[in-house]
This record gives sequence, C-alpha cells and structure tokens, in this order.
Amino acid sequence: TLSDRLATVFSTLRGKGRLTPADIDATAREIRIALLEADVALPVVRTFIAAIKERATAADVSAALNPAQQVIKIVNEELVDILGGETRRLVFAKNPPTVIMLAGLQGAGKTTLAGKLALWLRGQGHAPLLVACDLQRPNAVTQLQVVGEQAGVAVFAPEPGNGVGDPVGVAKSGIEFAKSKLHDIVIVDTAGRLGVDAELMQQAADIRDAVDPNEILFVLDAMIGQDAVNTAQAFADGVGFTGVVLTKLDGDARGGAALSVRQITGVPIMFASTGEKLADFDTFHPDRMASRILGMGDMLTLIEQAEQHFEADQAEEMAAKLAGNDFTLDDFLQQMMMIRKMGPIGGLLGMLPGAGQMKEALAGVDDRDIDRTAAIIQSMTPGERKDPKIINASRRVRIAKGSGATVSQVNALVDRFFEARKMMSAMAGRFGFPGARTSNR
Ligand code: GDP
Ligand code: MG
Repeated sequence: TLSDRLATVFSTLRGKGRLTPADIDATAREIRIALLEADVALPVVRTFIAAIKERATAADVSAALNPAQQVIKIVNEELVDILGGETRRLVFAKNPPTVIMLAGLQGAGKTTLAGKLALWLRGQGHAPLLVACDLQRPNAVTQLQVVGEQAGVAVFAPEPGNGVGDPVGVAKSGIEFAKSKLHDIVIVDTAGRLGVDAELMQQAADIRDAVDPNEILFVLDAMIGQDAVNTAQAFADGVGFTGVVLTKLDGDARGGAALSVRQITGVPIMFASTGEKLADFDTFHPDRMASRILGMGDMLTLIEQAEQHFEADQAEEMAAKLAGNDFTLDDFLQQMMMIRKMGPIGGLLGMLPGAGQMKEALAGVDDRDIDRTAAIIQSMTPGERKDPKIINASRRVRIAKGSGATVSQVNALVDRFFEARKMMSAMAGRFGFPGARTSNR
C-alpha cells in the first residue's frame, strides 16, 4: 500500500526537521503511482501532486509524527478537501414538487438509483413519484415499475394519451400528475446510450428544459475508470448537472473516477451506490473515498493515531509550561479537557513526562466535574484566569453566579488549581521536565 511505500521512502529520514526536496520527489512518485493505479486521470494527478508538493515543502515534520504519517495526513486532507469536504445535501424546491432528473450512460445505474433514492427519501417522510422517461430500451419502463414497487413508491409510466414514444411529453405529464397527487418529489429516469451520443444528449436536454429540475444527478459507473472524465465532461457540456452519483462501488474499482470528475467538473459527489439491492446506497463520504483511492483501508486509523500524537505533543508543551511555573487556569482547563478526550488511551498520557503526574493530580475527576470546572473557569475574566491570586471573595460570588455553581465549588476549584500548580513545580524541581524538548510547531 501507499503507506508501506512511503514508510520505505522515509526509512532514513527520522529525526530530520523538514522534508528535503529529494524526499519530496520520492514521495510524489509514490503518490503518483497510487493515484494512477486508482484510475485518477493524468491531468488531475498532476494538479494534485503539485499541491501536495507545495504543502509538503512548507510543512515541518512534527516531533509527534513520522514523516510518512505526516505526508499521508497531508495527502488525505487534500483528497478529502477536493472530494468535497462535507457532503452536499439535496436542494428541495420552495414550491413542491422538487424535481430530480437522472442522467448518464446506459448501464450506469440510473433506474436502480431511482429506486434507491425513492426508498431513501420515503424513509425521510417524503412521497416521491418515479417518472419513466426512458422509452428507448424495451424493458426500461417495466424495470422502473418493478423498482418502484420494491421501494413502495408510485411510478408514472407512459400510456396512450400521455405521450407514448415521447419522453418529453411523459416528463411534463409526470410533473402534472405529481402536483395533482401531492407528491413532493419527482424523480425523472431517462434513457442512456452505450457511449456519448448527440441524440441522447439532445433528448436529455429537452427533458431538462421541459421539467426545469432542481437537481440533475449525473450517474457514473465507478468501474469505467479513465473514461469517466470524458463521459462526465460530455454530460456537463450537453446537459449540465448539479450533483454526481457514483455507482458500483461494491466492485473493485479504486474510485479514482471520483477524484477526476470532482476536479474536472467542480460538481460535488452526493451519493454512492454499493450494490444491486435498493438498500445498498448512502450519502457520499469523502473521507472513506480518500482512503479507498489511496488503497489504504487503515487510513482513517492511521490519521486518528496521528491526531493522538498531536495531542501528545500538546501535552508535552504543557509540561514545559508547568516547569516554567506560568501555568494558568486556562492551561488547567485545557489540560483537563485533554485528559478527558484521551480517556481511553490514558496509557499514552502516562508515558509523557509531566502529564502522568497531572493525571494523578486529577484522579477521581469525572466528566461532570470537568464540565462544571469548565463552566466556572469560563465565567472568570481573562485577568482572573491568568492570575488566579486576584480572585477574592467578591469575585468568587460573581463567578459562582455566572457559572451556576456554588461559592464553595468555586473555592474548591481555586484551591485545587493552586495545589496542582504547587505539586507540578515541586515535581519539576525534583525530576526536571524534559518537556523543554523543542517542537517544530
Ligand atoms: P441504467 O441503464 O443507467 O438505468 O442502469 P440500471 O439501473 O439498469 O443498472 C444497470 C445494471 O447495473 C443493473 O444490472 C443493476 O442491477 C446494476 N447496478 C446498478 N447499480 C449498481 C451498484 O451499485 N452495484 C452493482 N453491483 N450493480 C449495480
Ligand atoms: Mg435505466
């Protein structure tokens, strides 16, 4: 995997403060291979590598991360970023029905998606109507009816009088039907061809003009690999779309199409289809796709570990502060929060100089305690937090009122803070804090 290969690249690097240009070139080579293996289009790979190189050059190698982890973190963040950060939600019409039109090549999974989307929306309390505008394939209408039945939603199919052989006519009557039956969402299934085709594009564009959709979803088979870019571009030019749905992600495609399409069209990927059954469907998760493209199932775990190391780094900075005796109530609070967050991995904390003692000092403090402590500290002025000695009786009454605590709870907190600080500096004096170890960040 990429992580193994990067680890090899960096096997000699430990301890250096910054990646050298040679390291970065070697890294870029490995990332490039991983992306090409995942079927990311070449121009997209180039742009991406350039961005990664720039970030890697600027980044310090943190004391808490090894360089391979550092680069993976950067690559992952950048990938997630390009893939869209947070998932975009469907835009609903102010005046129902909301019209969602599906477009894409034949076999991409449009009709199946119509059923999946209908089931999903129905589960959220909507009343979708499926409209069969694929009059190209002999069985297309029946297929949509079957899918509609499975999803438990109504299907509008062409009949004599509402436009047999005329997809635009069917689309229009479908919308009218939805209005009269109070369906709040209309999903318009359309025809596809095996390849990009002018007549097909024209038909899709005509349907679009007739129904004025709120969303046009471009349905893309993740298995088509490098062809994804041309297909997406053709649909972007010919029909336009507001969202992308990737299908057949249950196959072994690494998903590079996602990155290519997103980068080239700028349109967000909204849903992912992962099987033939209607339930095999979910909103799109950029983080999962990033890990898939990099070919690292353990990516998220790795990043999490990286994050924990960062926290460890913070704890170290804190230890240095303690040694210097400029420990404030803000630091005290931060320390408590950190210990709470690290709860399940308290072992790691125990290994850190200083932090172990801090944990002991706070033994028996539970989450509710920490919340109350936070409330009290947040009711103090910045001056009081920095120099708790000024917290006299009248200030304590004010703080208690502000935080909803009792005065004796405020007293207890202030006492505990001074005790902890005294203990910290005594420890520091006895053992010395190696926490002064320099960190690059
Ligand atoms: P359309 O021509 O775009 O309407 O595509 P269909 O919905 O008819 O799907 C074409 C084929 O792909 C059918 O056999 C579907 O069962 C299958 N299919 C659709 N989505 C998926 C998916 O996410 N995973 C898998 N494995 N098969 C899918
Ligand atoms: Mg179809």
